[in-house]
Amino acid sequence: MSKIVFFCIPAHGHTNPTLGVVKELVSRGHQVWYYSYNMMREKIECAGATFISCDDYDMEQKLSAKDSVRIGKDLAFSTKILVDTTLALDDKVCKEITKLKPDCIVADSMALWGKAVARKLGIPFVSSTTTFAFNQHSAKIMKQSIKDMVKMLFSMTKTTKQVKRLQNKGYPVKNILDIIGNDDNTHTIVYTSPEFQPCSDTFSDKYAFVGPSIRPATEKIEKKRDKLIYISMGTVNNDMMPFYKKCLSAFTDTDYQLIMSVGHQVPLEDFGEQPENVSVFSHVDQIAVLQQADVFVSHCGMNSVSESLYFGVPLIMVPQTSEQIGISERVKQLGAGIKLDQTDAPSILEAVNRIFIDSTYQDNANLISESFRRCSGAKGAADKILQVSGSSV
Ligand code: UDP
Repeated sequence: MSKIVFFCIPAHGHTNPTLGVVKELVSRGHQVWYYSYNMMREKIECAGATFISCDDYDMEQKLSAKDSVRIGKDLAFSTKILVDTTLALDDKVCKEITKLKPDCIVADSMALWGKAVARKLGIPFVSSTTTFAFNQHSAKIMKQSIKDMVKMLFSMTKTTKQVKRLQNKGYPVKNILDIIGNDDNTHTIVYTSPEFQPCSDTFSDKYAFVGPSIRPATEKIEKKRDKLIYISMGTVNNDMMPFYKKCLSAFTDTDYQLIMSVGHQVPLEDFGEQPENVSVFSHVDQIAVLQQADVFVSHCGMNSVSESLYFGVPLIMVPQTSEQIGISERVKQLGAGIKLDQTDAPSILEAVNRIFIDSTYQDNANLISESFRRCSGAKGAADKILQVSGSSV
């Protein structure tokens, strides 16, 4: 029996794919501890792990609203927050891990503290990556702009101070990329298929592309019309009333059925009465909707895109962040969706019609779906972790 410790950041999109892996390990008789945040406690415990709270040490939660916006945009600032959290957790985690003596640490690619402690204490390590794996080849395809690269290079010098802070606490870190990036020597689980991952053949055999983890649907959605259009801008940056209004005016007088999930930041009352073919919700069982949908108008979060393509649903893409732009580029490249340049009502309707007129979008979505379904999933991820921990699979 192996002892495995997971680390993750407080984000559902990063936590959810790991839960099936935890269940798989536990079902094979292994013991799992999971360092995370109270908002994730219930689902982690349900998966069978022992939950350990990091809430009192999370530096991001102590940030002002203005500083929170800087996270993800300013590498030097983000690095400082990650290092602050690592050092705040240092004493507690090092003591606990030294006592526990785990066979392997599995950390989300953003949970720097997991990788850092594995290095410091010499424990076998696996990185868990819920977006595309990143190297110089995939970066090119993802069209990382020259501006982004230059910005990153300039911030590198500012991160030296942060690296020194880690070194002073006994962390063997050479530079910040050494710890925030994964090289070919890092065992890495990637929750997508080799076919969907850009340039998957440029990654070493330490990378396991195990496919997306799709939770079961808990409801059944009634399909009222021949074609069902689903719209969601995800759970984070979804305060987009003007866009939702345009979608309503695009579809209200059509034969399409429309289901729109608008999140909790816009009041449902503001949408007023809707015609019989339109339903607006704050939240839906997205898996249940995608099992019936014919097109998904999406912000292109990695989970939404993976879920859509898993069910062979082509996408109309309205990405908001640079990560979402990268994901939408890949979908476009594989011909499984259309990226919207204009978000006015006629453009939205025209793009949806185009998906139905040109069947190649559907065919390409089906090909990606098949590639996901061929992947080894949670079982493959568990095998990888057990191999690294030196125990029999
Ligand atoms: N989701 C859902 N119901 C909704 C909207 C979203 O179940 O009404 C789920 C969706 O299935 C996905 C996650 O929320 O698993 C959204 O993750 P994604 O990475 O796509 O975007 P984010 O919310 O992180 O921007």
